[in-house]
Amino acid sequence: MDKEFNQHWGTSLVCVLCENCDRRYVKPQSLLITRCPNCHLEKLKTFENSEVFKPAEYHPECYLPYVISTPRLRSILEEFTRDVPFSAHDMDCENILARKRYIFLPQWLVDTQLQARWQAEIGFDYKVMSHEDRYDDRNGGWVSRKLEETRVRWESRLGSLDRTYHNVRTAGIEDKIDP
Ligand SMILES: [Zn+2]
Repeated sequence: MDKEFNQHWGTSLVCVLCENCDRRYVKPQSLLITRCPNCHLEKLKTFENSEVFKPAEYHPECYLPYVISTPRLRSILEEFTRDVPFSAHDMDCENILARKRYIFLPQWLVDTQLQARWQAEIGFDYKVMSHEDRYDDRNGGWVSRKLEETRVRWESRLGSLDRTYHNVRTAGIEDKIDP
């Protein structure tokens, strides 16, 4: 891998290819891993032909290293297994550690700019007062009753939006991003 590419990642990287599903990855040279994160088979092989695979086009903006070391994981697991009452014989810290697997959940961080025009009709409530008169013999003739009614006044509105979104997270495990 060329020097400039390694500088972006801050470590020495090699290309690997899965012989089963044809996925290609870059990994730190020091990371001894042969299991493919996509198909989970032990089929990863170092890929020499950098002409065919040019990862230098994809410099990372940021990357996350594994932050939990094995000793720290051991103490977390010890604490967890200790607190489980009547646990199965197999539920032992060392057994769990022996089966641990790194799982990669790749994500794209997408920057985007959005421009839009909008048009709407907006309704404003208002009250209308009126009176209803009726003749009531028992109450001495004409009686007036106040009536209150809610009506809606519709008005047109126009506007525009210009927004920028940074680092919107989207799944990086798909082959393409649906528009
Ligand atoms: Zn694979």
